[in-house]
Amino acid sequence: MLVLVLSSDSIVLGQENEIAKNYGNQITPLDLKEYLSIIASDALEGRKTGTRGQKMAAAFIADFYREIGLTPPVNGGYYQPFELYSSSVENAYVKTGESRYDNYGDVTYFGSDETLGEVPQDIVFVGRGKEEDYKRVDVSNKAVVVLIPVLKGPLSATFRSLSQTARDKGAAMVFILTEGTPEDYRSMADRIRAYTSAGRLSLKKPGSESSSGGVFVINQPVAEKIFNTSLDKLKKACDDPGKKSLIKIKPGKIAYRVTIHLNTVKTENVLGFLEGGDKKEEVIAVTAHYDHIGTTATGEDRINNGADDDGSGTVSVLEIARNFAKAKKEGHGPRRSMLFMTVVAEEQGLLGSEYYTAHPVYPLANTVVDLNIDMIGRVDPEHKDSTHYVYVIGSDRLSTELHQLSEKTNATYTKLKFDYTYNDENHPTNLYKRSDHWNFAKNGIPIIFYFDGIHEDYHRPSDEVARIDFDLLAVRAQCVFYTAWEIANRERRIVADRK
Ligand SMILES: [Zn+2]
Repeated sequence: MLVLVLSSDSIVLGQENEIAKNYGNQITPLDLKEYLSIIASDALEGRKTGTRGQKMAAAFIADFYREIGLTPPVNGGYYQPFELYSSSVENAYVKTGESRYDNYGDVTYFGSDETLGEVPQDIVFVGRGKEEDYKRVDVSNKAVVVLIPVLKGPLSATFRSLSQTARDKGAAMVFILTEGTPEDYRSMADRIRAYTSAGRLSLKKPGSESSSGGVFVINQPVAEKIFNTSLDKLKKACDDPGKKSLIKIKPGKIAYRVTIHLNTVKTENVLGFLEGGDKKEEVIAVTAHYDHIGTTATGEDRINNGADDDGSGTVSVLEIARNFAKAKKEGHGPRRSMLFMTVVAEEQGLLGSEYYTAHPVYPLANTVVDLNIDMIGRVDPEHKDSTHYVYVIGSDRLSTELHQLSEKTNATYTKLKFDYTYNDENHPTNLYKRSDHWNFAKNGIPIIFYFDGIHEDYHRPSDEVARIDFDLLAVRAQCVFYTAWEIANRERRIVADRK
């Protein structure tokens, strides 16, 4: 090309591009399919953290790292082991007057905090549980009842925010009552039971100060008994614009108790390291979570294979690692070091990456970037007609340079349409904080999060290998590969200028 004759700089750049391309092109749909058929197979039973299936996935990944010649970076091993607390509700009840209501009956406890024996308490009605409702009622050291509409979406976020508001005002326990029929209560109680009885995992011991506290969800007869009134009267009190009728609901008396069964679960992140050249102190992290949500209780197909979530990211990390390692063997190793890390317990609240960033194997100050992949093997309904896309999230949040490099690299090699919809700070899904890159970003490390969107098989047994678009997966993995390659080999470390 003409430009090559005009400037010696471009000649070098041109050759570099060709080298990168040689390895990028070896990220193939066939390889990715081969690995994913193992990672997302039924034999791994949904790879839930702490289960046999998760351990099988970890063993496969560690073997893979060994085979391609990565250095085992954690005391001579590929595993970074750690322990999580697993808590489940052992027993819970609520008493009012002569009546006692047991857990999973007319009351359902959601949380992992034990009470100190049986707790007797005054209980007051706080309407919708909004700020203005609390102005009318003194709730300090009392239990409160909040009335909410029937919940269709995720429960935990709503419960957490209601609980936080009430406890900020001094409330000691929160009872949640939903409008709607007893069947609505039943289906919500069943969802909570499925969620809590399997054991909730956490890094911190439940009941420690960081906890926002549990809540009781109660059926309508329980609330009517507590306040000696009807659900209709409670609803009316809420809808009174002046809120004066709130105080007309007379406080009641209750007692409740929660006991928690606590044990620990051993698990592990899996790390492989490729030492760099003249800038080897600086580290590029490429991450994906290899755990998923396990099995569901009922249905014909009970195994949540997590082929897209996040089998697709996991096998991309493997294939990217394989080609970086191959390049190094053939004399084209990266100038900076590469840390390939598949983390665990993402589905339980980004716990594996939280553990890593709290116990980093390489100093966070030397960690240049985290390129995180979580779901890149599918097409969402918004892109049915033009599938050559990927959602890019976070690239401009901490570093202008990273964003520019990411755009330019894609324009040079993969030419995907970068969709920034979810990068909008005001987007309600708040995805910038919802996968493992967040634990790096909150430590000031620039990140890019690659994502394909929400589709109908998300967190369902139908998230299967057969539904992955492997050609598209390969191009997206190449996009991450080239971006990593550019960051690893450029002269200057990218700067976080937007802290
Ligand atoms: Zn995921």
